[in-house]
Amino acid sequence: MSAPVVAIIGRPNVGKSTLFNRILGERRAVTHDRPGITRDRNAVRTEWAGRPFVLVDTGGFLPAAAAGRDADVRRQAEAAIGLADAVLFLVDAHTGVTDLDQAIATQLRKTGARTLLVVNKVDVPGDPGVHEFHRLGLGGPVAVAAEGGLGVGDLLDRLLALLPAGREEEESAPRVAIVGRPNVGKSSLVNALLGEERVLVEPRPGTTMDAIDARWRTGEGEFVLVDTAGIRRQAQFADQAEFFATMRALQSLERADVACLVVDATRGFEKQEARLAHHALEAGCSVLLLYNKWDLVEEREAAWKALQADRARRFPTLADLPAHPVSATGGIHLQRLPEQVAERVAEHAREIPTRELNAWLAESQARRQVPSDAMGRAPKVYYMTQTGTRPPAFTLFVNAPARLGENYRRFLWARFAEHFGFCGTPLRFKVRKSD
Ligand code: GDP
Repeated sequence: MSAPVVAIIGRPNVGKSTLFNRILGERRAVTHDRPGITRDRNAVRTEWAGRPFVLVDTGGFLPAAAAGRDADVRRQAEAAIGLADAVLFLVDAHTGVTDLDQAIATQLRKTGARTLLVVNKVDVPGDPGVHEFHRLGLGGPVAVAAEGGLGVGDLLDRLLALLPAGREEEESAPRVAIVGRPNVGKSSLVNALLGEERVLVEPRPGTTMDAIDARWRTGEGEFVLVDTAGIRRQAQFADQAEFFATMRALQSLERADVACLVVDATRGFEKQEARLAHHALEAGCSVLLLYNKWDLVEEREAAWKALQADRARRFPTLADLPAHPVSATGGIHLQRLPEQVAERVAEHAREIPTRELNAWLAESQARRQVPSDAMGRAPKVYYMTQTGTRPPAFTLFVNAPARLGENYRRFLWARFAEHFGFCGTPLRFKVRKSD
């Protein structure tokens, strides 16, 4: 199920990062098995009471200089309000209502954004200072002390009540998100793929800035390009380019099956790309890396090898993502793209028969016996079955899941991906009790 994007907004120093970290706390869910990826400190997919959502700490995106300027903070809040499904508007009980709080509140009321007003630094429950914030006209505030964790559970309950119902996309054609940092050539790529053809557009109501999808008709069938309007609209937010690109990517990835992550081939795959790849995998997308601006690259064969080796060295867990060179404006290799996307779609929806899974499982156990726990008890591993697709999910049935150690699980999952050849697709593994 696609997860709504929730942004924590507010003035500098109200405690946005503290609240962000407090909410994630122990719940920072490990939803895919690629350890060691640079985790994004500003945006993480998590869940509360079984409901997934993506939480964004907007403060982390503002450089220190900009964070000191009211105008920049307002612009960022404006962008966040337009792009998020809901916002947590954080204010500070110690300072009371400020002009900047008022300005942000006005923007929130004007757009009718789903908002939860949160008063932070309420160290004593029942602090009467909280009432002052009713003045902002955003309803009753929730009082929290992000540092100690007081009130955070209530906050999350109220947040869940506020979130839009989970979206199950009705569109049957596979959905493709085009993501990447600013200036890598996303708009150029969309223009090259869709050409001048008047595409059918479908506004998706719900977010303040409606996402407009486009149909991409190819020899491999029809795909839906998710939120092409958003890609083209980014110029409006040139001063918040990185922030806009990330927020838009988070939204699009939640609605997509395949993520085309565009990389500038003249710069290579860097930390920002690793973060986006990580977001894509967390959102359940199959990833395709497109090294764009290939027309600018000389000695191409050697350059390609060097780019791939560099990614493998710096980001070993992302070394196996399928990658291709392209040029959006130079028209290089674009005609191969439909087939490459279709391959990703097929892998994303792939189903492995139970008997194949269990033949593999038996062979793995023969290769390495299930170890006993400290008490000398080895768990009995019964069988494995596929319990989901898009992305693929597998469940292993065991008599005593707690006894199946972390090391052995890692051994199994690593062998699994190797054996069955999934390379750009996140796999979900579960271990369940069975008798
Ligand atoms: P976006 O921010 O990712 O949407 O990037 P744009 O599509 O706006 O492209 C940024 C700049 O890179 C523009 O000046 C494009 O003309 C240029 N550009 C995009 N693709 C290519 C390419 O394949 N080759 C070259 N040489 N330039 C490109």
